[in-house]
Formats: sequence, C-alpha cells, structure tokens
Amino acid sequence: MSRIRHLLSAENGFTLLELAIVVLILAILVGIVVATYQASTRLMSKTVCRANLRLIRGAIETYRSVNDGQNPPALNDLKPSYIKDTFEFKCPATGQAYTEIITGGGVSGVSDVKCLSPGHEGF
Ligand SMILES: [Zn+2]
Repeated sequence: MSRIRHLLSAENGFTLLELAIVVLILAILVGIVVATYQASTRLMSKTVCRANLRLIRGAIETYRSVNDGQNPPALNDLKPSYIKDTFEFKCPATGQAYTEIITGGGVSGVSDVKCLSPGHEGF
C-alpha cells in the first residue's frame, strides 16, 4: 500500500512543463504526418489524372483507327466499346470534367482531352 502511495505522490509525477513538452512534441508529429498525408494524396490524384488522360487518348486513337481516321463526336461516344461504361471523364483531384479538344477542318470531333485543374497543365 505504501508503495502505491509512493507512486501516486506528487514527487514521482510529471510536472506541468514536462506534460506541455510531450503535448507539443505530439502536436508537431501529428502536423508532420498530416502534411505528408496531404502531399501523398495530392500526388496520387495527379498520377491517376495523368493515367486517365492517357487512357482516354488511347481510346480516341483506337476509335480513329477503327473508324477510318474519324474522331469521336464526343467523349461519351467512346463508351462502351473503347472505355468502360463506368469510367467518368473527370479529374479525380477536383472532380472537374475533362475538356474536350475539338479540331475543325477536315477532321472534326474530339481529337484530344485535357485537364484544367490547377497543377495538371501539360498532362
Ligand atoms: Zn486533373
């Protein structure tokens, strides 16, 4: 009993300063983890967006080769023969729809696609 009383006595406990330092260190670690998580999530979204655009461009190219060089009239015309029916033509980072690049002249229709989300230019 005296041992428990000794352990619970104020002499063996943490001081307020020690507790404050521990809480501060934990807060810094949580801040680092949250920042790293957000950065990796952003990078993942960019990678998925780039892969989506590559997939769409491949589907447009396939459509063109099957249809005597004609571009698809719209992105939705690629479904379901060239892209899965459940595929959504929008950026995973912002949910913004991809922009269809429509060429004029002899060959009309969607010739390319691009993402207008910030940081996704040039994909
Ligand atoms: Zn994007």
